[in-house]
Amino acid sequence: MAADLRVFTCLSDNFGYLVHDPDTGATASIDAPEAGPIIKALEAEGWKLTDILITHHHGDHVGGVAELKARYGCRVVAPHDKSAKIANVDQRVANADVVKIGKLLARVVETPGHTLDHISYIFDNDKAVFAADTLFSIGCGRVFEGNAPMMWDSLLKLRALPDDFRLYCGHEYTAANVRFALSIDPDNAALKARAEEVARLRADNRPTIPVLLGDEKKANVFLRADDPQVAARLHMKGASGAEVFGELRERKNKS
Ligand SMILES: [Zn+2]
Repeated sequence: MAADLRVFTCLSDNFGYLVHDPDTGATASIDAPEAGPIIKALEAEGWKLTDILITHHHGDHVGGVAELKARYGCRVVAPHDKSAKIANVDQRVANADVVKIGKLLARVVETPGHTLDHISYIFDNDKAVFAADTLFSIGCGRVFEGNAPMMWDSLLKLRALPDDFRLYCGHEYTAANVRFALSIDPDNAALKARAEEVARLRADNRPTIPVLLGDEKKANVFLRADDPQVAARLHMKGASGAEVFGELRERKNKS
């Protein structure tokens, strides 16, 4: 059976995600920004937490791990990382490893740049991509530990996934991302359509996630850094995708 997913808010603008296997009852939390909302979401469904899949070491992604592990005795899966910044880990994973949540399968893709340890979890059978702070809707994460070519390479890995996969990212930043993207890419019809959709959803206080990866590929300027039209808008004709991406990221940092 297909995975049963829940989306909710943690902290101020982090997303909480539960992925539940109806066949076995296994339930994973993707990251654990804080325990309270995750426990509430579990109890609303009568689910018991069996696994936490961590994407990277930042506090707003691991802050609830210790409390959830103490409460549920769940397995904690985290990126392979020599510096071992993440505590309470049972299993370390690296590129192409597959994690089982009951009968559900999550494939690990290393997506460094935001942090060096950042991984994304791809549920191929369920067409779901948990990209945390690598790829946001109409944006991408800040490049804190890596560099622009590394981050661009990570975005290309996610862009290579099929159009009918759904993106579940780490933060509700979509409205601000739309404002920036329109300043670079004002004639993009897909972006304008997404801008209207986002305005509607946020007016109703609803999440802008998930979003189809196919739509994101057309509307997200950071995924279009190798499009000559985007390079031209930045007066960077002939520059590489990584160079244009780096310039976009710099401009967004200052926006
Ligand atoms: Zn982060």
